[in-house]
Amino acid sequence: MLALSGRMSQLGTESAFEVLARAGELQRQGRSIVNLGIGQPDFPTPAHIVEAGRKALADGHHGYTPANGILPLREAVAADLHRRHGVTISPERVLVVPGGKVTMFFAIMMFGEAGAEIVYPNPGFPIYESAIRFSGATPVPMRLHEDKGFSFSAEEVLTLISPRTRLLILNSPANPTGGVVPKAEFDRLVAGLARHPQVAVLSDEIYGEMVYDGAAHISLTNYPEIADRLILLDGWSKTYAMTGWRLGYGVWPEALFPYAERLAINCHSCVNAAAQYGGIAALSGPREPVQRMVAAFAERRAYIVPALNALPGFRCANPGGAFYAFPNIDGTGFASRTLQSRLLDEAGVATVSGTSFGGFGDGYLRFSYAANLAALQEAIGRIADWLTRDHASAAP
Ligand code: PMP
Repeated sequence: MLALSGRMSQLGTESAFEVLARAGELQRQGRSIVNLGIGQPDFPTPAHIVEAGRKALADGHHGYTPANGILPLREAVAADLHRRHGVTISPERVLVVPGGKVTMFFAIMMFGEAGAEIVYPNPGFPIYESAIRFSGATPVPMRLHEDKGFSFSAEEVLTLISPRTRLLILNSPANPTGGVVPKAEFDRLVAGLARHPQVAVLSDEIYGEMVYDGAAHISLTNYPEIADRLILLDGWSKTYAMTGWRLGYGVWPEALFPYAERLAINCHSCVNAAAQYGGIAALSGPREPVQRMVAAFAERRAYIVPALNALPGFRCANPGGAFYAFPNIDGTGFASRTLQSRLLDEAGVATVSGTSFGGFGDGYLRFSYAANLAALQEAIGRIADWLTRDHASAAP
């Protein structure tokens, strides 16, 4: 019998990948499935980025790079943060990593251990809670409220902080809700954090370029009061349709950077060299591909939110960002998990149960609208048909 470490039993998962596997299985059986389960842009990586990656390989960039990433890429990150948020950040504080997830994992490993508490959004990206448990720390859920556009309440968050709290995780715009935290709420939170100088903040801003209705993204980098304890998580996956390239970065406070870099050296050494050259092209190239993609998401949001609201038993808040809609489905009488399975198996539409994103996701279903308009219309049509057959009465 192999003796695994106890912490292995604490590791959770991301059910979107299970839904993807099940949807694939049904497709192989010949079923038609509309996949609104997976959170990745349905656009190709812009051609100039692909070309830069290809050229890097052809030019012989096939060796290790510095563990923190090549300097021109870290400089491009700093320039991009200046362009977007007006902040001046030293490239020496940028750690390039293989995907957005890695910064999150490193931050949680850096602060988490038995006896420590980490506050995280719920419903939220499932890896936060999973990695917190894996670290041995106690996950303390920060509730996001449907009636606040899935923002948190700063007062409520501040009451969750105890002397054992080491890290506070924030994510706006958010997965799975599409929620965007208003500036006033961040202002109140940051003001309150002055009373808790021992708490580090991890701000996951991976959807930062996907905000709608002309709103500006509020970055935590714009709060100098917490600059010495802020870890910024961002990356290329969503903004540049580069999920498979595995490229992300963290901006770390100077005091934490050596630990983050050491984790990188222990774990992956450095990021794929060609991907890093693609990353430079993305940040320093034309903005039009990003603008076109975000405009397409805005158009789809304008379709799917009213369409979801028109489904019997559904109520959907208008998401301010990202590419997710997170309708409340209590009115259908189905449990989230049941509805997820039955919509996939019986209606051929892949969605993700709100419970996959934490206890407070109960009663919701996540729809990714990173799919073309025709697919969204087909999905809504199938769900409407399925709900109005005799299933509502079959609800448990
Ligand atoms: N943070 C959030 C909120 C996400 O939704 C995701 C991806 N779904 C990530 C981080 C991780 O991104 P990556 O694929 O670059 O690791």
